[in-house]
Amino acid sequence: MIKENKEIFRDTIGTIDDSGNRNFIYPKKPKGKLYNYRTYVSWVLLVIMIASPFIKINGNQFLLFNVLERKFHIFGFPFWPQDFHLLVISVLVSVVFIILFTVVFGRIFCGWMCPQTIFMEMVFRKVEYLIEGDRAKQIKLDKQPWNAEKIRKRILKWVSFFFISFLVSNVFLAYIIGSDTVLEYLSDNPLNHVGLLVKLLAFTGVFYFIFAWFREQVCIIVCPYGRLQGVLLDNKSINVAYDFVRGESENGRKKLRKGENRDELGHGDCIDCNQCVLVCPTGIDIRNGTQLECINCTACIDACNDIMDKTGFDQGLIRYASEDDIERKEKFKFNARLIAYSAILTILIAVLVTMLFLRNDVEATVLRLPGQTFQTTNTTVKNVYTVKLINKTTEDIENVEIKLISHEGVVNMVGGMLKIKRQDLQEGTLFIEINKKDLISSKEKLKIGIYSNGKLIETTSTNFSGPLKIN
Ligand code: SF4
Ligand code: SF4
Repeated sequence: MIKENKEIFRDTIGTIDDSGNRNFIYPKKPKGKLYNYRTYVSWVLLVIMIASPFIKINGNQFLLFNVLERKFHIFGFPFWPQDFHLLVISVLVSVVFIILFTVVFGRIFCGWMCPQTIFMEMVFRKVEYLIEGDRAKQIKLDKQPWNAEKIRKRILKWVSFFFISFLVSNVFLAYIIGSDTVLEYLSDNPLNHVGLLVKLLAFTGVFYFIFAWFREQVCIIVCPYGRLQGVLLDNKSINVAYDFVRGESENGRKKLRKGENRDELGHGDCIDCNQCVLVCPTGIDIRNGTQLECINCTACIDACNDIMDKTGFDQGLIRYASEDDIERKEKFKFNARLIAYSAILTILIAVLVTMLFLRNDVEATVLRLPGQTFQTTNTTVKNVYTVKLINKTTEDIENVEIKLISHEGVVNMVGGMLKIKRQDLQEGTLFIEINKKDLISSKEKLKIGIYSNGKLIETTSTNFSGPLKIN
């Protein structure tokens, strides 16, 4: 029914005009119950987003993604490059979760939880409303010449946006290089940290560009999650949707006239007031049906509910609903795709939890030194190795010794016993010398034990080479 209407809107986006130039959208300030709920949710999420890199658990940052030094902390658990498989499974679980969630609830995440939407609609947009006023005033200000009022408001807006972008980039950098480094820089003369200052200003520039100019185009053009909607959503997915059955009725939507009987005239409950379009931050008309541009922000629900209250119709002409709900009045059901996704998600979570619990606190790698062959004496064969020990715990590991478990022999650690600092990597060189009579072939697998204060804390294996004929 809607498709018959016109599909032309799918060939264009509201943010770019016919000649390819940026078309700025001036959404009307949303008002209503859902907008209030979204504001409260955004406060909570903003606190979590800003505080997460500054919270420490057992001395570990709550969330850290230090790609340069390959250090990752997730919920206070340190992950090392050696735990890469866990990271891959975590990412897989997240992807399947997002898919499953999207199949059922559409783009609710975009409207309520996405950092882009929260910063754009709940921080930058609110500052803009505060300085420049609502839609009509913003359009007027844009059109008026550069008089004192326009210069004052624009400078105030640009400086505020720059300041917020600078704060956001500090938090962003705390996720990447660690909050300690950022706090150290903040408490010192910035000129002592010129490199860091340059990075901060570069990120500030990026955030400023996104929130002052690029804006909703992140969701419309760039975001891969948004692009996926076309394949993830089906008629049973819940979305912000216009009830076209009720809104259009037999003879379509029509402006409200005093005293008319719309039932007799066959007109739907949509009075074509355009309020749902004016509040939309991506510049679309939800009455055209589900569109990729819709970030499910619910602003149009609030706007339409307000109109329904004023005209005496029931609320919910625009609401959270699936197309099937609207068309066939069907209730939500678990479909086959949803059951399959749930099964995969359960298995992946089980694998992830098991792997997390089975993860060793100490990781040992003993490898033969590249390019070095064995040395022999009359009675023994000797190989040289590099050893890497990773301490993933929050305590130092003292008096570390390396011993042979599978063979009789001597292990000589260059520099003696080791100490591995908490969450650190210790590297060294060691010699293993085995009596010829204890070797049966020229290439043998050795089992090696890592001990701390005499207690076995980890085992690993390595190869041992000797002459072809051992005698
Ligand atoms: S159509 Fe409605 S829910 Fe979608 S982006 Fe526009 S205002 Fe938000
Ligand atoms: S706000 Fe509601 S009544 Fe007004 S045009 Fe949109 S759907 Fe129709």
